[in-house]
Amino acid sequence: MTGDGRFAPSPSGPLHLGNLRTALLAWLFARSVGSRFLVRTEDLDPGRSRERYVAEHLDDLTTIGLDWDGPVVRQSQRSALYEDALDRLRRQDLVYPCFCTRAEIRAAVSAPHGIVSGYPGTCRELSAQEVARRAAQGRPPALRIRARGARVAVQDRLHGEIDGVVDDVVVRRNDGVHAYNLAVVVDDADQDVGEVVRGDDLLDTTPSQVWLQRALGLPTPAYAHVPLMRGPDGARLAKRHGAVTLRDLRAGAQSAQQVRATLAESAGLIDAGDPSTMSHLLSHFDPARLRP
Ligand code: GLU
Repeated sequence: MTGDGRFAPSPSGPLHLGNLRTALLAWLFARSVGSRFLVRTEDLDPGRSRERYVAEHLDDLTTIGLDWDGPVVRQSQRSALYEDALDRLRRQDLVYPCFCTRAEIRAAVSAPHGIVSGYPGTCRELSAQEVARRAAQGRPPALRIRARGARVAVQDRLHGEIDGVVDDVVVRRNDGVHAYNLAVVVDDADQDVGEVVRGDDLLDTTPSQVWLQRALGLPTPAYAHVPLMRGPDGARLAKRHGAVTLRDLRAGAQSAQQVRATLAESAGLIDAGDPSTMSHLLSHFDPARLRP
């Protein structure tokens, strides 16, 4: 069973072909079973979000032939929802303040005595006095979830069961900005997203997100983490590969139809020379064809 799908870009830069391919796949997963498709702009971070990319992303999606239902939701307008979710976590003692800097975490994680992945737990058991003492020194804390090393198994449509240790991820940064892992969970539930289709670089964050859903009493959507697009050298597609945005390619006289054919072919959805109209892609969509 699947439900509403979504695409949730962060407007911190232009969408590259890899992002567009993920959007196309998310659209196909949803539309091929008659579900709604939503777009959410993940503009949580005021320092990195740019208004021009918000509009440009939507324009790119339309240009390659995608449509969506309802208004585009913007995370920057939803902090009350995230704060409410934080309150629910606080009431269950499931968050704690963390005063660590990135450099301190890096140093602790690369300690010679063992391999630690994720947050090393430095601030997990601070006493109330210690928290007050640190807070008085002026550096405001971030908030992390208290996962107590829980393991969570998640079912993924393409990867099967993923079983991971839940990292004590940040839910509110020390500058007061709500963090992605909290917002994504709150929003997917609030928007009734039934299936999350996104790049498989986010696979590792999924156990923490499912843990958060459970802690907040929210339903867990289905997941399909799709392969990322790669450059000719096999590495994940990036700016250094040259023309990687729709704008680059269209400036080089490629039509939107050609770009869509490239996206669909690279994902394994069609063979070279097959039609790449939206109706063809939709009627021939088979997730089993996705090339890893
Ligand atoms: N905003 C995230 C990104 O652009 C996507 C988050 C998600 O799909 O869960 O990478």
